Amino acid sequence: MTMPMTREFEGTFSEADHWSGEQMEEVLEHPAEWALRTDRLPHIWCPGCGIGISMGTFVQALKDAEIDRQKLSVVSGIGCTGRVAGYMKCDSFHTTHGRAIPFAVGLHLANPELEVVVFSGDGDISAIGGNHLIHAARRNVDLTVICVNNFNYGMTGGQAAPTTQEDARTSTTPRGNFEAPFNLPALVAAAGASYVARWTVLDLGRLRRSMVEALHHPGFAFIEIISPCPIYYGRFNRMGDSLHELRYYKDNEVVKNFAPLPEADLSTLGGKIVVGKFVEEQRPTFMDRKAAHAQRSKAK
Ligand code: SF4
Repeated sequence: MTMPMTREFEGTFSEADHWSGEQMEEVLEHPAEWALRTDRLPHIWCPGCGIGISMGTFVQALKDAEIDRQKLSVVSGIGCTGRVAGYMKCDSFHTTHGRAIPFAVGLHLANPELEVVVFSGDGDISAIGGNHLIHAARRNVDLTVICVNNFNYGMTGGQAAPTTQEDARTSTTPRGNFEAPFNLPALVAAAGASYVARWTVLDLGRLRRSMVEALHHPGFAFIEIISPCPIYYGRFNRMGDSLHELRYYKDNEVVKNFAPLPEADLSTLGGKIVVGKFVEEQRPTFMDRKAAHAQRSKAK
């Protein structure tokens, strides 16, 4: 039986059914409002980009990890992912190209009580910032480094980066990339990082848990997030829209915690993506070693 579409069948509203102004405000507040500078929104990222998902997951992880926002510092370099720092409602710093990690190291050394997080892209962190990355890992500096890897320099027009896959087309490799890319988890683990994980933007629960672990981990924690850049990398390589890329992740992702790191190689465009927590070790941090050295020096 179909209901006749007249207002006679609607009951009347009582006073209690109406929301008060206070209730409206409560409902209208975005769940991430406490962590984001909403006056800067809407963000600059293209539709289908994975950076917003990465930042949203980070906001949830901050809550899970019970991080005191007064003690949180988020540092970014330049590029599309470099915009994250500007959106976070905390002491955040949008630094120069490739210099997010040394800036973060400086913050940590000046005030070891701070929770210092670097949030930047693959181009920023592993190209111009590559030396800083390996040396902070070698020193096991107590930082959380989140690297969104979309395999190219998105902000400046989709140029090839040190992570660009073999034969992939970019604006600077129109006939395909002939260079071998970095395997970032293998690179930072070899350099000395004591926590290393990789997830895609489709692995929200796992990524969130990893972020919580990384935030609590004493030492250099590195998380790589594989993320679509449908505007450049996806378009140049005919990967379809962002949903197609996510479907590709779903069909080709292999979860393998503590996999031997050569297996985390991503050099084949369209190949399997090994994800997981690869390294988790307790080792003396830079500050531990510094304190131990000071003790030894005093005893001499
Ligand atoms: Fe994201 Fe690519 Fe757009 Fe940058 S250019 S915001 S990485 S989709």
